[in-house]
Amino acid sequence: MVPVVGRGGVITTNVSISHFDLVAVIAQGIVDLDAVDHVEAFTMPYPRTVQLGLDRLGLQCLLAGHAGPTGIPDLVRWAWSRQLSEWPLQLDSEFVSSGDLLVDPLSRRPTKLCAAWAWEYSDDAPFEHARDFLRTLVERGTPAVLTKAIQHLIDTPVIVTKQKATMAAKPGIGGLWHVMTDFYRRAPEWYFRGDRAATCARCGELAIPVGKADWWCPWDARPGDTTTTGEELDRDQGVWQLDGALTSYFAVSGRRAGAIRDRLAEAQVTEVRLSLEEGPWLEVTVPSGETWCVRVDDRYQPGLTALAARRTTAQSGARYPVLAVPDAWAQDARLGTLRHLIGSDMAVLTDSELIKTATGKAGTDA
Ligand SMILES: [Zn+2]
Repeated sequence: MVPVVGRGGVITTNVSISHFDLVAVIAQGIVDLDAVDHVEAFTMPYPRTVQLGLDRLGLQCLLAGHAGPTGIPDLVRWAWSRQLSEWPLQLDSEFVSSGDLLVDPLSRRPTKLCAAWAWEYSDDAPFEHARDFLRTLVERGTPAVLTKAIQHLIDTPVIVTKQKATMAAKPGIGGLWHVMTDFYRRAPEWYFRGDRAATCARCGELAIPVGKADWWCPWDARPGDTTTTGEELDRDQGVWQLDGALTSYFAVSGRRAGAIRDRLAEAQVTEVRLSLEEGPWLEVTVPSGETWCVRVDDRYQPGLTALAARRTTAQSGARYPVLAVPDAWAQDARLGTLRHLIGSDMAVLTDSELIKTATGKAGTDA
């Protein structure tokens, strides 16, 4: 019997594996390989997931009459040189589109899409890990302090060593700062070009140097694109970034949820509660008096976003569930596909549509 990974990472001894599950385990393997050092460092022994993904893909290629990857290095080369649509796999159209790569060809680091596929494998384990971090703050802080502490984490995913000490004096969160400093890790070497690192101007996370002078952010840039940088940091300052789980949580959902709350506050909609420790949720009371439970998410592919929404919305039992996706989704077919997939289970709105509806400024089809 051959061990096979099913949805949610459960190992069974079934000999069949769906192509969906195969991509999920390969993506998790690439993330695991990257966590060891770097996807191309190939430190032995290889993570179990990457070996499993390689074996199963090899078998699939054999069945399909294609030449499969010859080993882990070749699998990684596939991941940055072949779009997913070119792999000998059948994936439904809501899960794959042109330009999808699991590894960025310039930085050779996993893409946001790779992370989203890996979350399917692990049932959102990194998000649960991030919520565990945030719950340790809940146990120690009053609601007002907690709000400030979470806002600080959203605003400051990257710090230098001096800030680790001085932040203890920051009004409002001083008591929680010693807990929050444990959330930060030393920035790995791959974030530096010589002695310089740089943050992404959009999300504030560390960008990755590519080529001679460019930078790339996995959370905001498509594979092969480049990113505008914000702050430049010197190695001697000591560069720290939030734990990887918190980074993905804030980069995918937390920062946008906070921005939506701020835009609603500017529009005088004050009945808003942001919950990241249980979320990412926003509870918004709209002009009709209904309280919407808004899930903020973005997994690039509508299929992956819909699956994640179903997982959590079923648990929440919210009366008026809403799924908010970035405005950019309205510029291609993704928004329509997502609405079709979600059906009448919940309203699907872009951030701008949500704000217009919540402020009563314009109707939507919600
Ligand atoms: Zn970014």
